[in-house]
Amino acid sequence: MHLKKIYSGRRPVISFEVFPPQTDEASAPLIAELRKLKEFAPGLISVTYGAGGTTQGRSLKLLEKIVKELNLELMAHLTCIGSSENSILSFLQKITGWGVQNILALRGDYPRNNPGYQPESAVFQHAADLVRFARQNTELSIAVAGFPEKHPEAASLAEDIKQLAAKIRAGADAVFTQLFFDNQYYYDYVKLARAAGVAAPIIPGVWTITNLKQIKKIAELSRAKIPGELRQKLEKAGEQEAREIGIDYAAAQLRDLLQHGAPGAHLYTLNKADAVMEVLRKAL
Ligand SMILES: Cc1cc2nc3c(=O)[nH]c(=O)nc-3n(C[C@H](O)[C@H](O)[C@H](O)COP(=O)(O)OP(=O)(O)OC[C@H]3O[C@@H](n4cnc5c(N)ncnc54)[C@H](O)[C@@H]3O)c2cc1C
Repeated sequence: MHLKKIYSGRRPVISFEVFPPQTDEASAPLIAELRKLKEFAPGLISVTYGAGGTTQGRSLKLLEKIVKELNLELMAHLTCIGSSENSILSFLQKITGWGVQNILALRGDYPRNNPGYQPESAVFQHAADLVRFARQNTELSIAVAGFPEKHPEAASLAEDIKQLAAKIRAGADAVFTQLFFDNQYYYDYVKLARAAGVAAPIIPGVWTITNLKQIKKIAELSRAKIPGELRQKLEKAGEQEAREIGIDYAAAQLRDLLQHGAPGAHLYTLNKADAVMEVLRKAL
C-alpha cells in the first residue's frame, strides 16, 4: 500500500523502524519481535540502509524475509550519496519485484574524517535527486527525512525547510522526522513546513530511552537535545528505574503528539519489541 493511502485511512498510524541484523542467524529473532508488534496493526515497518550502501545486501535480505514471512507493509530506506544510478536502480527493481511499495529517499552522510570527499556520481548530490530518480523510474511512493531541530549541515532552519519543500516538489509523499525529545520542535517544524507549502503528512520519530548509555549515542547520532530534567532523572536512576523513566517519557511524548494532531508516529525499536510495546500500551 502506498504512503498516501496509509496516511489517508485510520489514524493514528503507528509504524516501526528496524535495522538489518549483522548475521543471518539474527534475523529469525527479529522476525519474532516483529510478529509481536503486529498486535498494534502497524501501518508500515521501515528497514534502514547502511551509509554509502555498505549494508545494501543485508537490507535487501531483511526486506525479502519480511515480505515472505510477515504480512506487513514496508518502507525501504535508501541513501544515494556515493552510489551509481545502476546500483540504485538495481535496488529499486529488486524491492518492487517483491511487492515493496515505499522508500525513504535519503542523501546519506558523507564518510567521516574525509573532508575532501567527492561523490562518485554527479547525479546524486542531495536527497531530492534520488526522489526525482525514483519517481522517473518506478511507481514507488516516496518519503523523505525532516529535521525538527534542523539538519546539522543547514545554515538555518528556514534554509533546511526550503530544501524540505524542494524534496516534496520533486515528488515525495510524506516526511519522517529525526527523533526529538521536546515536542515543541515538532510543532514549530510542522507550522513552518506548512507555511512553506508542504502539505504532506509529517510523521514524528519517537525514540524510547532504555538506559543511560544510549543518551550519549543519541546525542552523537541525531544531535537531538535531551531536556535537562530528563537527563538528571536518568543520571540518578538505577538500571531498571532508568528504563521505566524512558518508557514513561516516550509514552507521554507520544500521547501529546497524537493529541496535537500528529498523523501517527514512527517508533525506533532497536530490533526489540518489548519497550515500544510498553510505550504504546501506556500511550494509546
Ligand atoms: C527518519 C530518518 C531515517 C534515516 N535513515 C537512514 C538510513 O537508513 N541510513 C543512513 O545512512 N542514514 C539515514 N538517515 C540519516 C540521513 O542519511 C542523514 O541525516 C543525512 O545527513 C542527510 O540525509 P537527507 O536525506 O536529509 O539529505 P538532504 O535532504 O539532501 O539534506 C542534507 C543537507 O543538505 C541540505 N540540502 C538539501 N538539498 C539541497 C540543495 N539542493 N542545495 C543545497 N543544500 C541542500 C539540507 O538542508 C541539509 O542540510 C536517516 C535520517 C532520518 C531523519
